[in-house]
Amino acid sequence: MNARCVGVLALQGAFSAHVETLVELGVSCREVRTPEDLAQVDALVIPGGESSTISQLLESSGLLEPLRARLGGGMPAFGTCAGMILLAARIVDGRDDQISLSVLDIVVRRNAFGRQVDSFEAEIDTVVGPFHGVFIRAPRIETTGPGVEVLGRLGDEPVLVREGRVLAASFHPELSGDARLHRLFLQRAGFDGFESAEAPMAHMRRES
Ligand code: GLN
Repeated sequence: MNARCVGVLALQGAFSAHVETLVELGVSCREVRTPEDLAQVDALVIPGGESSTISQLLESSGLLEPLRARLGGGMPAFGTCAGMILLAARIVDGRDDQISLSVLDIVVRRNAFGRQVDSFEAEIDTVVGPFHGVFIRAPRIETTGPGVEVLGRLGDEPVLVREGRVLAASFHPELSGDARLHRLFLQRAGFDGFESAEAPMAHMRRES
């Protein structure tokens, strides 16, 4: 496959830093606000922000049904923080009217990571090596289904997961000045020129 353009959902939240990261990687990218924008992209980043607000805006913009159709058709997606919540199969502590796109077999609990503090930064062990994670009112991944790979952990907690072509992080990789997870996404999404950067995680390195 020769994918060409990656979209960044730009209805609300932390989309600009994703766009900057993708531009720095030299990939063609566009902000997605309408069904017409969505039709122009081959993959989609769903940023952090407020998942219940993004959920409402998906409905009012007319993007919800086309987005469901594209995801159902296999469009690669990368959800970060609120984006991960939106992709999840089940949301705990969501607003009653909050939608989930249900393309990632995980249960997430909103605002549950680091209950004591709203935000924190920590080193994560990932398949691309140690990664500096910025957590902002982050969701906790409570369970992962059998088809879900855990690609990053903070201590014992999964914080970076993938199912097929859907990648999701409970933190904000676009705020670390480190494009390795965007590269990982683009590589799986079939964009040319992004070789696999995956390496064994620390617990696997210890075992081998
Ligand atoms: N707590 C937010 C939500 O529920 C997510 C926070 C974030 O994206 N940084 O949507």
